[in-house]
Amino acid sequence: MATLVLTPGLKKNECLCEDGEPQAPTLPSVEDEDAHIIIPEWRLQKVQSPIELTHDETNEYDHFEPLEYHGHWDQGGKALFTNNGYTVTLRFQDRELPILLGGPLHNDQYVFEQLHFHWSHDDHSGCEHIFEGKAYSMEAHAVHYNKKYSDFKEAHDKHDGLAVVAFFIHATDDDEHPCFNKMTEGVKKIQKINTTTEVASDCLTWMSEAAKCKGYYTYQGSLTTEPYTESVTWILYPTPIHVNREQVAHFRELKSTPCENFNILKNVRPVQTPPPHKKLDIIYARSHKKSD
Ligand SMILES: [Zn+2]
Repeated sequence: MATLVLTPGLKKNECLCEDGEPQAPTLPSVEDEDAHIIIPEWRLQKVQSPIELTHDETNEYDHFEPLEYHGHWDQGGKALFTNNGYTVTLRFQDRELPILLGGPLHNDQYVFEQLHFHWSHDDHSGCEHIFEGKAYSMEAHAVHYNKKYSDFKEAHDKHDGLAVVAFFIHATDDDEHPCFNKMTEGVKKIQKINTTTEVASDCLTWMSEAAKCKGYYTYQGSLTTEPYTESVTWILYPTPIHVNREQVAHFRELKSTPCENFNILKNVRPVQTPPPHKKLDIIYARSHKKSD
């Protein structure tokens, strides 16, 4: 089994294997536009993501409105799981898309676009953000775009365009996580690149468990994949979701190229160091959460 490690200059889905058909990145390039958006000063302190963070270096803030999840773990419609050769993405169809609001998002509502995962070749290096020096097996990103824009494409390069909720997932020798099984059952059916399967519509119930914890970290950063636009309000839960090692291993069986000589064994961007003139402004928000 060969490893396809993404390196600078090698775009996702490109294959160095002779039989593979190189494919262009899935995100379209979008012309730079001046957004003319009035947003609070602290939201402009942007950096590239992911970052390493420690609680001692954060500012605590207790005055956000509750962070609210609407519809993320409801039943109904279709939940489609796709192997795009770089990761697996979950998208909803034939239902009202979930909405994220409150917390650091001020008066804006953010529409669920997709959820995807990052992982690596072992159980100790598959997350993108590093919290308190610890690395976990996987990191899940629930990507939302600001409803004031027409879609993800229009929002993705705006100052306040995106909100991504990040969850750490850690592999243990314990029993499998029953809710997370809805994900792994889907993964088993999309080993080939560019294949899609339907999973249970309430497949995100494992997220609700993590979102009940006491607080979360938030900062202004970037996408961790192309085009790396600094348009993301990150919301990061520090407590990992524990799953079984086998549940993580299934992700490494996914093929990254049409020739099927490569598996997706690592899709993690290294931690980014902010430039010296940019001080990291990370906020720890205590949860006063309500959700439905
Ligand atoms: Zn991601």
